[in-house]
Amino acid sequence: MITFYPGPSKVYPQVAEYAAEAVREGIVSLNHRSAGFMTIVQETVRLLHEKLDIPADYHVALVSSATECWEIVSQSLTAHASLHPHSGAFGKKWAEYAYRIKPPTSLNEADVLCIVQNETSNGTQVSMDTLAQFRRDFSSLIAVDAVSSMAGVAFDWTLADVWFASVQKCFGLPAGLAVLIYSPAALKRAEEIGERDHYNSLLFIHENFSKFQTPCTPNGLGIYLLMRVLQQVPGIAEVSARTKQRAADWYAFFDHEMNQTPFTLLIDDPATRSDTVIAVSGAEQAIKAVKAAAQQAGITLGNGYGDWKTTTFRIANFPAIDDEEIGTLTGFFRSYANQQTL
Ligand SMILES: *Cc1c(COP(=O)(O)O)cnc(C)c1O
Repeated sequence: MITFYPGPSKVYPQVAEYAAEAVREGIVSLNHRSAGFMTIVQETVRLLHEKLDIPADYHVALVSSATECWEIVSQSLTAHASLHPHSGAFGKKWAEYAYRIKPPTSLNEADVLCIVQNETSNGTQVSMDTLAQFRRDFSSLIAVDAVSSMAGVAFDWTLADVWFASVQKCFGLPAGLAVLIYSPAALKRAEEIGERDHYNSLLFIHENFSKFQTPCTPNGLGIYLLMRVLQQVPGIAEVSARTKQRAADWYAFFDHEMNQTPFTLLIDDPATRSDTVIAVSGAEQAIKAVKAAAQQAGITLGNGYGDWKTTTFRIANFPAIDDEEIGTLTGFFRSYANQQTL
């Protein structure tokens, strides 16, 4: 089976060996306050800075999920209210979680702008130009959910104060770990707010990570796998160029080769199309049939999500997917299209 599911998604095949190594060498049994474990955390943070080209003064912490990051932003970084312009299911969910913690009483007092950079549910993305416009128009903190794009495409990190992603998408790893990146301005805001009511209050996380420790027993296996995968991958500039080329190829494929089929790209405007999640739309029956045929051919397509659950399928364009698998999928679509027109 090969999978194009946009999360959980294909993991790097090397992960099997890294996981065996972590067990064999006793890494999963290390006390999380031991020197050996702290060295792994320190190296993982260093590699994140290096491979993702994160500014030296931005801090990095590891938590358990992007959903946890949504709550951390509300708990520790929102004094009054957060703003959530959104276009899809994940942006909507984030707003709902946030408003339970900080009810939207006075949006004109909003002090955090929350943006989903890559909306996994419908395959749209917020460009760095648009983010730069937000940066100019909004003077307070900007927090970015980059769950399905971080480690797949390059960002201008300075355009936001908080960036986060869980690792089961572009990092090519099993779920249960998330990377949380925050600027000096975000830390300063957390200090001004002074919120320390939760095990995952940002100040508490920050104090622990200053010693390469974590507030609670962390996902040590996940952290080790992240470190090993970061050692193996090229820098983000190279990864990003490849992701964007593959995305351009996918969009051209559907616009040209597939234009006589029942399938069309969900997003018309090329400027807002995601580089990492390709959403393809069609009638409910046609979507159901192509997903089933793909499954028969040993290929898992991503289901639709939220409002687009039954009228789209999604293709992950994540770095762990190799050229051969992409060739298999395009070959499948070509022969499927031919059968349909017979
Ligand atoms: C997958 C996803 C999430 C949720 O991540 P969890 O690890 O399940 O918390 C949040 N936002 C976006 C954009 C996603 O794609």
